[in-house]
Amino acid sequence: MATIFTKIINKEIPASIIFENDKVIAFKDINPIAPIHILVVPKKEIPTLNDITAEDSDYLIAMYLAIKDIAISLNISENGYRLITNCNSYGGQEVFHLHFHLLGGKKLGPMLSF
Ligand code: 5GP
Repeated sequence: MATIFTKIINKEIPASIIFENDKVIAFKDINPIAPIHILVVPKKEIPTLNDITAEDSDYLIAMYLAIKDIAISLNISENGYRLITNCNSYGGQEVFHLHFHLLGGKKLGPMLSF
């Protein structure tokens, strides 16, 4: 089912887009939890990580390549950054369109909170 991210992909609602190609779009999270908080989203409606198949491999590779380029362009490659994908209820997923959170811009705290 289409989510808010499909509307951003289709330019039906605005977003602060920082990267786009035929397979991936990346834009600033509306509610950032780090100085740099980018959402990296495939241009295919894959609801969760549980739903990926081998047919999605082009999109998954494109997501990683986009992240590499974005990190270079934002000058966070050397210091480093964190990727998070939340999955379903226990993972805290809110938008059911696969995405990475790309977090950086400072030394991040512990990875998990319980
Ligand atoms: P999830 O919890 O599904 O892993 O993450 C969804 C993320 O999408 C949240 O961090 C939330 O702030 C972000 N988000 C939700 N709606 C919008 C929106 O309309 N625009 C943008 N840029 N981010 C959004």
